[in-house]
Amino acid sequence: MNIKKILVPVDDSTFALKTAEAACQLAHTLQATVCMLHVVDPAILAIGAETVVYPITEVGALLEGGNKLIADINEKLKTDVRIESHVLEGVPSEIILNQAKVWQCDLIVMGTHGRTGLSHLIMGSVAENVVRHSNKPVLIIPGKS
Ligand code: ATP
Ligand code: MN
Repeated sequence: MNIKKILVPVDDSTFALKTAEAACQLAHTLQATVCMLHVVDPAILAIGAETVVYPITEVGALLEGGNKLIADINEKLKTDVRIESHVLEGVPSEIILNQAKVWQCDLIVMGTHGRTGLSHLIMGSVAENVVRHSNKPVLIIPGKS
């Protein structure tokens, strides 16, 4: 297996840094590039709302928050690995699966859990969807120690 590009989806949870650190250590060993990706899901704006029209300013704020999140993670990562950072909008698992193809990533490294972090579940729904539908290898980093 020749792994030159690793897709690292991160959410806004405490697991994100741990996942990114593990991915960067692996990328260092393999001399691979990391494609870090945060997906903002505008559907969260629609909770409790009657219409499903997303005001452009609110989506803009979400994207800005995503950029800040990725910048914070990058700042904390002490690594010499080449990292490309991306913030995109849509359904997280769909965007992750699609971008893995578009960016021709050889491996996906993500956490078992994210923001919700229900410990009785083996993994969260985003992780589960990606594992279920990905045709690339997926490495799952446990969220709990
Ligand atoms: P759920 O979202 O199903 O309520 P959860 O939040 O605990 O449960 P997931 O969302 O599946 O679990 O998170 C598992 C992993 O999926 C995260 O560690 C992260 O790698 C990735 N992930 C989750 N949400 C996003 C997102 N919005 N953008 C990028 N990656 C994400
Ligand atoms: Mn989640």
